[in-house]
Amino acid sequence: MSFVAVDLGATNVRVAIGDKKGIKKKSSEKTDKNNGPEGIVKQIIRMIKILKPHPEAVGIGSIGPIDINSGKIINTPNLPFKEIALIGPLSEVLGTDVKLLNDCSAGVLGEYFFGAGKGIKNQVYLTFSTGLGCGVIIDGHLLCGKDGNAHEVGHITIDSNSELECGCGCFGHWEAYSSGNGLPKFVKMLSLKNNFKKTYQNSFNVENINSEKLFKMAKENHPFGLKVIEELGKINAQGFGDIVNIYDPELITVGGSIAINNSDLILRPIIQGIDKHLINRKPRIIITPLGEDIILYGALALATEMKMD
Ligand SMILES: [Zn+2]
Repeated sequence: MSFVAVDLGATNVRVAIGDKKGIKKKSSEKTDKNNGPEGIVKQIIRMIKILKPHPEAVGIGSIGPIDINSGKIINTPNLPFKEIALIGPLSEVLGTDVKLLNDCSAGVLGEYFFGAGKGIKNQVYLTFSTGLGCGVIIDGHLLCGKDGNAHEVGHITIDSNSELECGCGCFGHWEAYSSGNGLPKFVKMLSLKNNFKKTYQNSFNVENINSEKLFKMAKENHPFGLKVIEELGKINAQGFGDIVNIYDPELITVGGSIAINNSDLILRPIIQGIDKHLINRKPRIIITPLGEDIILYGALALATEMKMD
């Protein structure tokens, strides 16, 4: 029996087939943003049919926010569509059971069943990607919330006086600083501050900056790149401190392309700077061993109905 796992992100759609033992085959494409919500659904169906025309069941880990009851993505800040219906059209066309979770909720399930968190009853998975999000298992239960968005940590307020606008329209959210979408605007904001102008003037061009270029600058010991990473590290340490104080996890695994490709630059400032924000005991904080497949693993656990002990 083969099941299908789908990781629907703002940048990539990834599809895999597998079973309770793991992933057998997978494919990946850039997310089709040019043909409306239906274009994304058609893309997923086409990708599934290439791998497995008649799957037993489908599990989806999707960008949020979602409405878990109606099976839709609602008002996501990272795609230009108000609503994307997933479960309805997918189950109709594929003629099979389709289950949906927020992508990071799927991620933490993947970690629990296939990754570094096997059997750990209190754990968090956090991703630094186009957006920023986390999934939480506490006391052996996956937290979902009334609509399936129990922990949109990317949208906790880091600075209530901030001029940085988040993709969701609010100001000062964590995601506005640390996500792939937010980072370029954060860098530009820093570059306009007087002390930055004085110290780093003419040593960099912020116009075409993106997370890839920024981390490259830091790896090459460019002073401005290093300074931005230092400032980013303080914000991330604060965000991780909030997570530990709220959920009291034993393990936090970190994923998403930004963290996976820059593990030391992302993790070190968090581990070094988190203590001053903590009331709870510090957990282990590591990069997920499942890499970019973590959401697929979680979606597979969802499709195959794996149960926590
Ligand atoms: Zn926000």
